[in-house]
Amino acid sequence: MSEPIQPPIRLLIHGASGRMGQALLRLAAEPGPPFAVVAAVSRKPAQRVIDGVPFFAGDELDGVPAFDVAIDFSLPEGFAAILALCLARGAALVSGTTGLSEAQRDARDAAAAEIPLCWASNFSLGVAVLTELVERAAAALPGWDCDIVEAHHAQKKDAPSGTALTLGNAAQWGGATPRYASLRAGDIVGEHTVQFSGIGERIELVHRASNRDIFARGALHVAGRLAGRPARAYRVRDLLA
Ligand code: NAD
Repeated sequence: MSEPIQPPIRLLIHGASGRMGQALLRLAAEPGPPFAVVAAVSRKPAQRVIDGVPFFAGDELDGVPAFDVAIDFSLPEGFAAILALCLARGAALVSGTTGLSEAQRDARDAAAAEIPLCWASNFSLGVAVLTELVERAAAALPGWDCDIVEAHHAQKKDAPSGTALTLGNAAQWGGATPRYASLRAGDIVGEHTVQFSGIGERIELVHRASNRDIFARGALHVAGRLAGRPARAYRVRDLLA
């Protein structure tokens, strides 16, 4: 039987030198939920210790200290290793890594039988609400065209974005058949437009992220709620309260 974890909750940040990893390290140090970052992992760390946090390379995971929750915002090539580490250590996993293959998604889903796990394509509250609105709109507008247009920074590797695919799933549950278009440009943090087009009228539902801290705060909130829970797959909305 799982027991609540006594604070501080020991965090491992996977993907720590990236845009999201840097936001997570900064925000985890803020006053609030009681976290201690005990390890940070990036592909090739430039330094061994930064602000008191020990850094490890992706192929040195065997040596990381004990932790309660791993927060993973890396790339698909690093996902198998962090999943295996959490399984081996019996630790919880919060992951926002997108672009996972079907085999990786299957491995993730199977792991949820053994550890508490929350994977989400988007950890912002606004997108959680948008997803519900899209499903309702799709159900209320049978026969309308549904198009999902997303824009992200030029370095983003996967397209359509994980969030666009999640919104598309919601549209499908509502009965629509979504189409996707992707734009990669400049430093855009993330924009998603879901457009429903009928004859002579059109609805656009839009979410714009202007700061990636919203995703990092959401992931930290979820990490605080996930530690010590029974093994299963959790959605962000299961852990909001
Ligand atoms: P980034 O390219 O800036 O950073 C990637 C990080 O992963 C780096 O620290 C890199 O060293 C590390 N990495 C890469 N391969 C690795 C490996 N094999 N082992 C260990 N570490 C490895 O990317 P980013 O903008 O920070 O985004 C990271 C991921 O998070 C992407 O998949 C992105 O789509 C996703 N993302 C998700 C959300 C969400 O809310 N779910 C929000 C923003 C970004």
